[in-house]
Amino acid sequence: MAHCTLCPLACGADRRVSAGGCGAGAAARVAKYGLHPYEEPCLSAGAGSGTVFFAGCSLRCVFCQNYAISHENAGREVTARELAEIFERLEGMGAANINLVTAAHFVPQLLEAFRLRRPKIPVVYNTHAYEKLPALRALERYVDVWLPDLKFCSPKIAARYTERADYFAVAFPAVSFMARREAEFDGERMVRGCIVRHLVLPLCTDDSVQIVRRFAALRSPAYFSLMGQYTPCGDIAGLPELSRPITPREYKKVRAALDACGLERVFVQELSAADTAFIPDFSPDTETLF
Ligand code: SF4
Repeated sequence: MAHCTLCPLACGADRRVSAGGCGAGAAARVAKYGLHPYEEPCLSAGAGSGTVFFAGCSLRCVFCQNYAISHENAGREVTARELAEIFERLEGMGAANINLVTAAHFVPQLLEAFRLRRPKIPVVYNTHAYEKLPALRALERYVDVWLPDLKFCSPKIAARYTERADYFAVAFPAVSFMARREAEFDGERMVRGCIVRHLVLPLCTDDSVQIVRRFAALRSPAYFSLMGQYTPCGDIAGLPELSRPITPREYKKVRAALDACGLERVFVQELSAADTAFIPDFSPDTETLF
């Protein structure tokens, strides 16, 4: 925490006195937690996925649907013990798993919470994949299901939407590491494995096709989850191409690439998921996510 180089930004912040490039200080910061019914069916099985949304982010996509927490840091600081208690509470609510959303900048705090009390249900690590391998290796023994999002292939697109032109160069080795894991199920619930997600963006279908092909070339046991839920959000003024959802034609093109690669372990989201009704409510006035 005195000179943080945890993530690929390696900004060197002294997080004990001021926030780093991810917006995080020394303590973990949780925006909200609760049962999430809209993850992939094998993750939201039963009562729902026990989702913990962390504040801050080291990638900071301009179109983030969780902008209030990723960019504006809404949430409250928690100790490692309080974090472990949140996991226990979610277990008590019947959650299918503990789903850690964008926690890359809190890896030491997660490890401390796991040492205090290891969850009795699978731990899902839900990440933008802009991660260093040593951080993933440190988490490996505690994480059951890796859930990376592989966002962009082109450095130009990555720079336009995140200012991280090196996104793919960093994220692809991270995804390759996570995708090695074989899947295991307990009934319909995934209890171990990896699902690589990809969100199709307007006017970026060539990049999406590249992502599909690069993933397929890994020949990994991981599942691929194609998402069409893009909804205009965040700070997209000056980026007119992001002001609309994707079209059925754009989605069809990427689906055709999936089919052409012969991938069988695939989830394909319905385009009707492109609706603000599926975006969690981070207001402190409500207890639930939706
Ligand atoms: S985790 Fe945050 S503070 Fe640490 S290097 Fe990355 S951006 Fe900087």
